[in-house]
Amino acid sequence: MEKVRTRFAPSPTGYLHIGGLRTALYGYLFAKKQGGDFILRIEDTDTARYVDGSVQIIYDTMRDSGVMYDEGPDVGGNYGPYVQSERKNIYKEYAEKLVELGGAYYCFCSPERIAGLKDESGNVRYDKHCLKLSKEEIAEKIKNGEPYVIRQNVPLEGTGTYTDLVYGEISVDYKDIEDGILIKSDGMPTYNFANVVDDYLMGITHVIRGTEYLSSTPKYNLMYDAYGWRRPVYIHLPPIMKDAQHKLSKRNGDASYEDFVKKGYVKESIVNYIALLGWSPKSNVEKMSLNDLIENFSLDGISKSPSIFDEVKMKWLSGEYIKEMTFEEFKEKALPFLKESKVYGKYNEDKLLSLVKGRVQIYSEIAEKLDFLAEFGAFDTALFENQKQKASAQVAKKILPKIKEKLAGIDAWENSNLFSALVELSAELDIKKQAVLWIARVAITGKESTPGGATEIAELLGKEETLARLDFAFDLVK
Ligand code: GLU
Repeated sequence: MEKVRTRFAPSPTGYLHIGGLRTALYGYLFAKKQGGDFILRIEDTDTARYVDGSVQIIYDTMRDSGVMYDEGPDVGGNYGPYVQSERKNIYKEYAEKLVELGGAYYCFCSPERIAGLKDESGNVRYDKHCLKLSKEEIAEKIKNGEPYVIRQNVPLEGTGTYTDLVYGEISVDYKDIEDGILIKSDGMPTYNFANVVDDYLMGITHVIRGTEYLSSTPKYNLMYDAYGWRRPVYIHLPPIMKDAQHKLSKRNGDASYEDFVKKGYVKESIVNYIALLGWSPKSNVEKMSLNDLIENFSLDGISKSPSIFDEVKMKWLSGEYIKEMTFEEFKEKALPFLKESKVYGKYNEDKLLSLVKGRVQIYSEIAEKLDFLAEFGAFDTALFENQKQKASAQVAKKILPKIKEKLAGIDAWENSNLFSALVELSAELDIKKQAVLWIARVAITGKESTPGGATEIAELLGKEETLARLDFAFDLVK
């Protein structure tokens, strides 16, 4: 069987947004599932939209997210160059060939003449004026250095039909397609031409891209047919929406992969979540590694309808990844975020991190989760009130000295020892265990809620500070 070859063909117009990465990911998953190749091609022919640095962002994002290509500008391959601006001569040669085949023609019309072709609604539709030029006239004009473009010669009648693997049969009447420009006057190809030539020359078997190209595909097929090339298989992907009305788009500044990484999302969870935007696995399992995704990916799971980007769900997924990480893994990723916290450097970093692991969904929540440790001072003793546990300021007044005494006797200052001591105390005092733990925790934190229980926090604070805080809290209630 022929080897599957898919490609991701971004234009370097800024950062790589979520929709772009989703297209790349599906191309990657589809190829990998079938032992095929995944190619990166940079489509930089629209120089006006070119943004410096964005090619590097594309390379970095793809490497970092694991959606790695087998061939591309920076890794090489047998079908290069993989940057369109370096393929100018190739397009020229193929455009001339298409002219000979009758699929395209030279057009010398001035911008003024074109502007004069506006219809009632202001749309310009080229009238095939230059199609009439003879070979000799064309040669003469070119010799005289007259500027020209090459246009596609779209039939006036008939219908272009193809079957998209997601959207089914698509038909467009040729009368609705204009003779678009294939080669601009500066010799650069347009996307409409370059995508066809490159997909053919790079041996692309399956074209995977956004639905915005669904209705222009018949005009690309006209070119494949004119050259006598086999058309690729088309797989168009549903749009990703920000909400019911608005598309997620980089032009609107919607977040990119790297923004989410900076915000502290677990990288694997971003890729995992993106995979679910427009595709659902047969099983109900949603947490999937890149390898799981390759194994489970199939075209029949791709939906036709737009999907809404739900950051809350992505956050949840990120939290699931954090829960399942080993402590070492978590530490490695979380440390840069812990350094942002006010308490970094004051307490043992492993203890700080164990306090928050499993209690944050994204790394950037770490600092704020630990803030309570940095802010100890006078607090409202009404916080001791907990009806459910039958705790109150009165009870606190009674037992705080006893808690202190009990803990003061412990030398191996560890959560489990501290916990046993407080359980023992609750039995001695005949007070519910939860009430003792509640009072101890409020006393040493001054907060109604905190990540971690009393003894976990006490271990982190250390003996001296814990006892000092118990004294301080006792002074507030007595
Ligand atoms: N350069 C096009 C884009 O960024 C690629 C479309 C395609 O995959 O054919 O939208």
